[in-house]
Amino acid sequence: MSKQQPVLFNIGWNACINCGACVAICPQEAGFVSPFDTIAVDRPCDIACLLCEQICPVDTITHVPAPAPATQNGAGVR
Ligand code: SF4
Repeated sequence: MSKQQPVLFNIGWNACINCGACVAICPQEAGFVSPFDTIAVDRPCDIACLLCEQICPVDTITHVPAPAPATQNGAGVR
């Protein structure tokens, strides 16, 4: 079974009309929300269904691959 790579979302704040569609469709647990009532942009999304990007009426949500978490022995990516 394939697993999506976690992503970090970016939102163009000047374009966002604060419609709430991205939050409404998001399958993440409650609280995956930014201070501006959009989907969260400060933590990785491990579902990465990208429904928020598809539903955004002003097409202002983008994403990048989330950085790999540091390993437990401290040998994280430098
Ligand atoms: S769906 Fe797009 S326009 Fe609507 S609140 Fe989310 S980022 Fe803003």
